[in-house]
Amino acid sequence: MRSMARTVHLASRLAIAAASALAVVLALGATACRTKLELPEDHTETTPPVTTVPLPGTATADRPAADPPPGVARVVDTIDPGRIRKDVDRLAAFGTRHTLSDTESTTRGIGAAREWIATRMREASVPREGAPPLLVAFDRHRITADGKRVTRDVDVVNVLATLPGVVEGAAARHYYVVAHYDSRASDPLDATSDAPGANDDGSGVAVLLELARILAPRRLDATVVLMATAGEEQGLLGARAHAKAAVARKVDIRGVLSFDIVGDPRMPDGPARADVIRLFSEGLPANASDTAALRMQGAESDSISRELARHIATLAGWHAAPVRPMLVFRPDRFLRGGDHTPFNELGIAAVRFTELGENYDRQHQDVRTEGDRAFGDVPELVDPQYVAGVTRLAATAILHLASAPSAPTDARIVAKELGHATELRWTPAPEADVAGYEVVWRATTAGEWEHVQDVGKAGSVTLAAHKDEHFFGVRSYDEEGFRSQVAFCGVER
Ligand SMILES: [Zn+2]
Repeated sequence: MRSMARTVHLASRLAIAAASALAVVLALGATACRTKLELPEDHTETTPPVTTVPLPGTATADRPAADPPPGVARVVDTIDPGRIRKDVDRLAAFGTRHTLSDTESTTRGIGAAREWIATRMREASVPREGAPPLLVAFDRHRITADGKRVTRDVDVVNVLATLPGVVEGAAARHYYVVAHYDSRASDPLDATSDAPGANDDGSGVAVLLELARILAPRRLDATVVLMATAGEEQGLLGARAHAKAAVARKVDIRGVLSFDIVGDPRMPDGPARADVIRLFSEGLPANASDTAALRMQGAESDSISRELARHIATLAGWHAAPVRPMLVFRPDRFLRGGDHTPFNELGIAAVRFTELGENYDRQHQDVRTEGDRAFGDVPELVDPQYVAGVTRLAATAILHLASAPSAPTDARIVAKELGHATELRWTPAPEADVAGYEVVWRATTAGEWEHVQDVGKAGSVTLAAHKDEHFFGVRSYDEEGFRSQVAFCGVER
């Protein structure tokens, strides 16, 4: 019955897609003027209110001179808080999603939860013009008992939805969005008590599901992977196993965005901060080898993860995103871990998003009341409007990362002689649609890029800013205005 309903559903969807594609051909006679993010149909909807209050740790100074590509707003405007509300409620309704919980039941436990997530992902998949659709798969890893948080051998199963890139030379680049779907109660080994995990990390999984719906029809240059992990609460098991296997297969992972506890904007005291989300990034890479060079350059705050975080903050400012990142120059919060860390450990750019005022009574706690103090990660405390704002930020970042050319490689300061001007050189990005480069720079004491200059399709530039007192970087842009993240300039001596 279920498969029949699904076939009918898909058939009607195909018919709609075919009809709308035909309508565009009839109306326009050509589709060549469409930008890459646009769909055949018109998707204009009302824009949510935009907060313009300046926030701490938010880049605005290096905002590109041009207007942002208009296609991005049209895509992110389709994000629906109503669907997010339903997804968070449904995830919480599995009772517990503990990694060692039941996998037989269709209504309770981690097995039912992952089937449901995969089904929602498959529903999001639609046919794409000349490209494979969103591909959904289980990514299974056998984890043996460790006598600590894994008391018996268990299959840790990630749910993967992959949107293959459509541009040769860019499709091999992979950008990940990650959230964990497992949950836990007070005792990390308790696999039977209720552990609704609405915020930790039902909110992050809701971001993934909404991204699947709005991105599935798009034809992005690079490949996007939406990954719901298991085993996070037992020690980052799913993310670590996946990252290791991907690196062994030589998958080219350029960026990982982990969304974990992104649903409740209220502060422990004072008004809610629904306009901000913390964005954690490591400074010194976990696998840094040439620390002598980093010391000489003073480059301890310019890892690829940190540049990824700065890039997302720049994009948020450029697009006037309602939820802006508050950059935190630290790999993670104290006493806590997350799924970005195994990627960092393998030398991959990876960052973590988490709300500002975490409520510790509402995470990793049995659902209960003690006097008038309530505990437990229940869905009522997740604000779907806030999660929608976070999803908007995630989508903006992914649309740029997967539509833009690569950052130039081998960006460097030419420091062969003393002088007050600074010569920069770089190797052009390989993609065919590169339209030019922007150089950025900042004082050595500044946390974020302060200045930007468009230098067109050059491979070098000489700036008046002195190399002794500034850091420099270069980013690429394409004909539509999509920006790469900044490549930090090392030194050629
Ligand atoms: Zn978590």
